[in-house]
Amino acid sequence: MASEKRSLRLLLLGGTREARELAERLAHDERWSVISSLAGRTSEPERLAGQVRVGGFGGVVGLAGYLSRNQIDVIVDATHPFAEVISHNALSAAMQTGVPHLRFCRPPWQPGVGDQWLMARDVQHAAELIDPGAHVLLTIGRQELAPFLQRDDVHVVARMIEAPEQGVPRHVEIVLARPPFTVPDELALLRDRRINVLVTKNAGGASVEAKLTAARQLGLPVIMIERPHDAPRADAETVTQLMHLLDAHHAT
Ligand code: NAP
Repeated sequence: MASEKRSLRLLLLGGTREARELAERLAHDERWSVISSLAGRTSEPERLAGQVRVGGFGGVVGLAGYLSRNQIDVIVDATHPFAEVISHNALSAAMQTGVPHLRFCRPPWQPGVGDQWLMARDVQHAAELIDPGAHVLLTIGRQELAPFLQRDDVHVVARMIEAPEQGVPRHVEIVLARPPFTVPDELALLRDRRINVLVTKNAGGASVEAKLTAARQLGLPVIMIERPHDAPRADAETVTQLMHLLDAHHAT
């Protein structure tokens, strides 16, 4: 028998592939009325199913106000594992307003047999770990390039979805591309650019994992930037797990 309960209003903090998948799944589910939220970093984000809002809320106070004004029943944080500020803000705003909060976070990658990972605390540390003269493939997006712009003793191939707003020095080559990437794609890029070290964030997830497989096949070291240590706890590590939690929440 169909549920008599009204549809619940869900604020979905996104900016990830999984948030897009969730929006797609929930758009066809009458139990939920979903508003996806994007920070607005990408000028042409991929299409999202359902209602979308773009831009910051104005910190914890702004987000708490948004939850109350819009009578949000559940907030789902499905932002990137490195989007620290919004994840803390979401938890604080949920606690202040009493709105139930769920956090999705994909599990981090783990080194496999044959991997040579050098762990970096943050992007600054990662830039310091690069050997002089190296040819680097850098896949950390466009927001945190600064420490690498100063390393003019190395050649940096920086891959990102959208070009940085500021120009870059001559030792930095920008490659624009949108995931997912295949292992053959990654092998070709690493070989063509004579890359001898990969620098990446431990984002986790299948869509950008091929670069690690390719680096392993070529015997290349990886400077792996660790996740923030004090991020809020994840309630779900897969979209399916999160859907089960939402089912349970709706049923209560
Ligand atoms: P952040 O440092 O955690 O957040 C900075 C500010 O951006 C937040 O305080 C908030 O502004 C606003 N914001 C962030 N995510 C938002 C969202 N989904 N909806 C509305 N406002 C949002 O975030 P970030 O690391 O710059 O990431 C920004 C977005 O890009 C996130 O949605 C994230 O999922 C995505 N992303 C990030 C990375 C990464 O490596 N960090 C990689 C891929 C995708 P107010 O305080 O004004 O509310």
